[in-house]
Amino acid sequence: QPFDLIIFCSSLVEELQISTTKHQIIFQAQEQRLLLRLDEKLLRHILTNLLSNAIKYSPQGGVIHFDLIPRTDEVIFVIQDEGIGIPKSEQEQLFNSFHRASNVGIISGTGLGLAIVKKSVDLHRGKIVVDSEVNVGTTFTVTIPLNN
Ligand code: ATP
Ligand code: MG
Repeated sequence: QPFDLIIFCSSLVEELQISTTKHQIIFQAQEQRLLLRLDEKLLRHILTNLLSNAIKYSPQGGVIHFDLIPRTDEVIFVIQDEGIGIPKSEQEQLFNSFHRASNVGIISGTGLGLAIVKKSVDLHRGKIVVDSEVNVGTTFTVTIPLNN
């Protein structure tokens, strides 16, 4: 059963925005409506994890951009924050269970979120890529193929 991905993402952002006043989550999509057949639970899990990380690892607050880019055969989600960033040499290991970067300081976590996200993305035969600079910010890009 297809559902509207734009409405789905907007309400997810609304839910998460309630948890913080220091951050402004800006959701942008190029379409008004986007009816797709995707696993809603899996998608909610992936996006909630990435957006919660963006909030948690931006302790000073700031803007979080969440962009939805629909293509003919795939959909791309981009989540960008202005937080603590991830040292280049550690970026590859982040998808391994229990790995936490050396610059997390007192921010707590188990190091499992991204490992599970990676598994969920793999289940969709998708891709997840990180681009980050310490003290500048982090961008996660998730590409999910559409099989119609
Ligand atoms: P949890 O299991 O509760 O999510 P966690 O947030 O530590 O714990 P992951 O979500 O798997 O674990 O993230 C792994 C590590 O990647 C984090 O500990 C942190 O070092 C780094 N990280 C993830 N997202 C960001 C981000 N947006 N900005 C900076 N570092 C990040
Ligand atoms: Mg996490």
